[in-house]
Amino acid sequence: MAEGFDVLIVGGGAAGLMCALTAGQRGKRVLLIEHAERVGKKILMSGGGRCNFTNTGTAPEHFISGNPHFCKSALARYTSADFVAMVERHGIAWHEKELGQLFCDISSKLIVRMLLEECAAGGVRIETACRVEGVRHTEAGFELQTSQGGFSAPALVVASGGLSIPRMGASAFGYDLARQFGHQVLPTRAGLVPLTLSGTHQERLQDLSGVAFPVQATCNGARFRNFMLITHRGLSGPAILQISSYWQPGDDLRLDLLPGIDAAEWLQQSRRDRPAAELKTVLAEVLPKRFAQRLCEAWLSSRPLRQYGERELAGIASVLRAWPLVASGTEGYRTAEVTLGGVDTDGLSSATMQSRRVPGLYFIGEVVDVTGWLGGYNFQWAWASGHAAGSAL
Ligand SMILES: Cc1cc2nc3c(=O)[nH]c(=O)nc-3n(C[C@H](O)[C@H](O)[C@H](O)COP(=O)(O)OP(=O)(O)OC[C@H]3O[C@@H](n4cnc5c(N)ncnc54)[C@H](O)[C@@H]3O)c2cc1C
Repeated sequence: MAEGFDVLIVGGGAAGLMCALTAGQRGKRVLLIEHAERVGKKILMSGGGRCNFTNTGTAPEHFISGNPHFCKSALARYTSADFVAMVERHGIAWHEKELGQLFCDISSKLIVRMLLEECAAGGVRIETACRVEGVRHTEAGFELQTSQGGFSAPALVVASGGLSIPRMGASAFGYDLARQFGHQVLPTRAGLVPLTLSGTHQERLQDLSGVAFPVQATCNGARFRNFMLITHRGLSGPAILQISSYWQPGDDLRLDLLPGIDAAEWLQQSRRDRPAAELKTVLAEVLPKRFAQRLCEAWLSSRPLRQYGERELAGIASVLRAWPLVASGTEGYRTAEVTLGGVDTDGLSSATMQSRRVPGLYFIGEVVDVTGWLGGYNFQWAWASGHAAGSAL
C-alpha cells in the first residue's frame, strides 16, 4: 500500500526545494525525493562555494528558450527581491559582485540550510538516497515505486534538473518521464561551458594557459563583453561561457580583442604618435604581453608602425575587432553549468508549470526548456518556477 501525500517532488535541487517549502507552508503534505545522499549539491558547489543566488537585474531577455515569453509570468511573480527577503530573514550576509550578481559573504551552505529550515517549517518530508524505480499514472494521480517504498499523490512535480555534472547526480529522469507522458523534449546540449580548440588554434594558444583579458564575444546575434581565459584545452572565462550557450559547431564566433576601443582609430593614432614602435610593443600595452606577441607571430606580423600602409593597418584592425575563433567543440556536460533545451514549454502552463496534457503533473527548474545567462539567472529561474508550481498545487 503506497503512503499518501498531496504532492510528490522528484529532485532536491534549487527548484524542488523552493517548490516543497512553498507548498508545505501552504499546508500541503509534501514528500521530496532525492536520489543523491544529500539535497542541494549544485547550490553547494555554485559560485565558487558562495552561490550566486540571484541577479537583481533579472529580466526575460536573460533566458534562452524556444518560447522567450514563457518565463515571464513566473519571473514576475517571484522576483530576486523576494528571494533576497528570505535570505535576509535568515540573517545570511550577502554582497553584490558585479552586474547585479548577489553572492553569499560566507558560504553557499547557508542557502541550503535556509531552504531546509523553510521546508521544515512547512512540514516537508525529505527522503535522500531514494531511487525512483517506477512511475504509474492512476485515477487518483501518481504512484511512485522507490527504493524506500511506494508513495502516491494527486500531484507529481519533476524537478530533476538537466544533464550537467553527472557526478553531482544529474540524470535524464525528467526528460524520460516527460516523453512517457507524451511531452516533447527539445534537443539538449551543454551551456555555459568552456570551448575547446584543436589543430593550429590550440597549438598556437595552449602554452598561454592562464592568460586572461576582456573581450567582446559575438555569435548568432548574441554579444557578451567580459573576461576570456585561455586554458590548456581551449577557452573559458565569463565571456566564453556566456557565448557558448549561443554557439553550435560550425557557427561563426568572433572576438573583439579590444572592446571599447576603436581598433582602426587607435592603430592610426599609434602610428602617428610612435611611428618607430613595433606593432607587438603597442599591442602589449592594451593586451597581455604574451598574447600580443603570439598574435603577431601567428596571425599578424610585427614591424615598426610606419612600415604599415593604410590597407594593411585596416586589415590588422579587422583582426583585432573580429578575431575569428574556430572552436572544435565544448567540454560537454562534464563541466557545463547548465543544460540547454529540455521539456518543451508548449506543453506547460507558464503560470503554474503544470502539464497541459496530464493534470497534476508539473515540470520546474532546469529540466524545462528555459536556460539563463551566467550571473545568478539560473537560480532565479529555479526559485521562480518552483514558487509558481508550489503556489498552484
Ligand atoms: C558548477 C556549477 C555552478 C553553478 N553556479 C551557479 C550560480 O552561481 N548561479 C546560478 O544561478 N546558477 C548556477 N549554476 C546553475 C544552477 O546550479 C542550476 O541551474 C540549478 O541548480 C537548477 O536547479 P534545478 O533544481 O532545476 O536542478 P538541480 O539543482 O540540478 O537539482 C536537481 C536535483 O534532482 C536530483 N535528481 C536527478 N535525477 C533524479 C532522480 N531520478 N531521482 C531523484 N532525484 C534526482 C539531482 O540529484 C539534483 O539534486 C551552476 C551550475 C553548476 C554545475
